[in-house]
Amino acid sequence: MTSKKTYTRPDTVLAVAGRDPDNNFGIVNPPVYHASTILSPTMDKFENRIPFEGFGYGRNGTPTQKALEDAVAAIEGAHRSIAVQSGLAAVTGAIVGFLKTGDHMLVTDNAYGPARRFANTTLKGFGVETTYFDPMIGGEGLAKLMRPNTKVVYLEAPGSQTFEVQDVDAMAAVAKKGGATVIIDNTWATPLYFKPFEHGCDISVHAGTKYIVGHSDAMMGIISCATRAMFETAKTACQSFGFHAAPDDCYLALRGLRTMGVRLRHHEKSGLEIANWLKTRPEVDKVLHPGLPDCPGHENWKRQFKGASGLFSFTLRDGIKRPAVAAMLDGMDIFGMGASWGGYESLMIPAHPDQYRTAVPWPEGKQLLRVHIGLEDVEDLKTDLAEGFERLNRAHNA
Ligand SMILES: *Cc1c(COP(=O)(O)O)cnc(C)c1O
Repeated sequence: MTSKKTYTRPDTVLAVAGRDPDNNFGIVNPPVYHASTILSPTMDKFENRIPFEGFGYGRNGTPTQKALEDAVAAIEGAHRSIAVQSGLAAVTGAIVGFLKTGDHMLVTDNAYGPARRFANTTLKGFGVETTYFDPMIGGEGLAKLMRPNTKVVYLEAPGSQTFEVQDVDAMAAVAKKGGATVIIDNTWATPLYFKPFEHGCDISVHAGTKYIVGHSDAMMGIISCATRAMFETAKTACQSFGFHAAPDDCYLALRGLRTMGVRLRHHEKSGLEIANWLKTRPEVDKVLHPGLPDCPGHENWKRQFKGASGLFSFTLRDGIKRPAVAAMLDGMDIFGMGASWGGYESLMIPAHPDQYRTAVPWPEGKQLLRVHIGLEDVEDLKTDLAEGFERLNRAHNA
């Protein structure tokens, strides 16, 4: 049966949102509608469609896509959400609607690399200027960078390689006062562990590819909007570009979303356990996990977030060089080396913020490893890491 009440407790919302079994033969999950052409019964209905409502053409949305959008909007507290083909499409589609030639955008220096590339190439070419700011600059620091033409303030808390957690409350308030739209990349925390609209953000973007899909088998982007006006701006931009979320991928994302609560609790517990274990290792310098005091912005995380996911980084003691790191990474048994994260499996990659950071340059030669702690048994993960450190030490001392 279709639930009639409105629920607020996250696990229940995850289970009931975006489902309508009463209208689907009692089948639990929304069906996958494959569609390009969608027929209208009358000429009047064909010519007088209500913008952004119903289903008129496959590219602009299907009931499968709408089910996913409704579910994410319910869990994040958005007016409406928009599903698009990838996380990066969510980032670019969300930003572009709020800017025009001559405008200025402020972007946190720890933002996702391809988002920076979009600003530095495409937006720059269209006459939009971008300034990067120190993620730890706070509200007062941000206020000094605001210009009359600053139309977007772009946050990512924490950034997905160096994990500084911005003071979102303070920064959003400053941005709003200056008339800018606040967009946050909320991929790390997911709609469960950070509530962007309770902290002054206007738009939240997700690489649904990560924890929402949760199984490393589909690409997905989500744009969640605080108000009807913001939704119309973002949806218009996405429609203009022809952005589209494919029905099978929407189905996979919706199926992943149902178990995101239990998965995240496991990622969080194991992630913190491994983070604390790494702190005891002599090879490790700092553990950049928002839940630990070493991480810049840990206090902001404590005050503004509801939990931690399974992605964090650690730096290695000074003097450890690339060949030693390669000896560790090349021999890992469980930890895979690959882009993306948020699936059930553990990953570890070298990260190179020195190649893109501008406002706060990364210390030269400082080795950074990013881990995603998956759902495997935590003791097996520790063994894999301990054996990796043995290889690292052997190569370092050779
Ligand atoms: C992966 C990622 C994206 C982009 O998502 P895709 O689905 O890979 O396009 C955006 N932001 C963050 C923080 C990410 O980790």
